[in-house]
Amino acid sequence: MPPGLVSQYPRGSREGRRNRHKDDFGYQHPVLWKPNQKLFSGCQNIRPALGLHPELASQRAHETSLFDSLCNETKYIGEIGLDGVSRDPQVRLKQRQVFNSVLKSIKNSSPKIITIHSRRAATETIDALENHLHGTPHRVILHWYSGTKAELMRAINLGFHFSINHAMARGKAFEALIEAVPVSSLLTETDAPFTFDAFATNRRQSLILTIDALSKVLGKDHEECKRTIWGNFSRIVKSIS
Ligand SMILES: [Zn+2]
Repeated sequence: MPPGLVSQYPRGSREGRRNRHKDDFGYQHPVLWKPNQKLFSGCQNIRPALGLHPELASQRAHETSLFDSLCNETKYIGEIGLDGVSRDPQVRLKQRQVFNSVLKSIKNSSPKIITIHSRRAATETIDALENHLHGTPHRVILHWYSGTKAELMRAINLGFHFSINHAMARGKAFEALIEAVPVSSLLTETDAPFTFDAFATNRRQSLILTIDALSKVLGKDHEECKRTIWGNFSRIVKSIS
């Protein structure tokens, strides 16, 4: 389920093999695209995504031209976006330049599913997405959403999806988030390995905990909740094929 950092696992690693059977989007910056496509070519349910993470934007801004030339080779983009943790104006400027550049590449390319990072920068991120992608067939997933209620309502009205992980479920805002988002717009993610902790040390455990947390808020049993998320996932994938 979207998104995973599967690209971090080296060729032939145990974690890489263990995840052969799961549907997963792994992301990577442009120079890793070709090697990772090769690495996961035998994994039918892992779909490598092309990304340029905002936390790497200032070091990897030169890869935007490569991103542009690779954009039509994939249906899956992520992570891209903005991150407001850094207070360095130069870093933030580079993030904006990189994000605008990749959104321009995506805008006129074939339909895609796009995973978006928006930590502490939700308004700016949603503004850029609306400016570049409104009216296009691309599907936007806000991953680990942590913005305000007003920003959330805007994102919902723009038809964005939201991917949820087990670490989010422990936060204070989780219940209100799940109650506000239409059930048909919910997806799961692991954001592994960053979310691994005492409760979940692998993707399977993480997804089980996430479904448990969702089922409590939605008032559905675990299996029904799993079917709902799978249905949402299937629909979004079909919508761009
Ligand atoms: Zn992220």
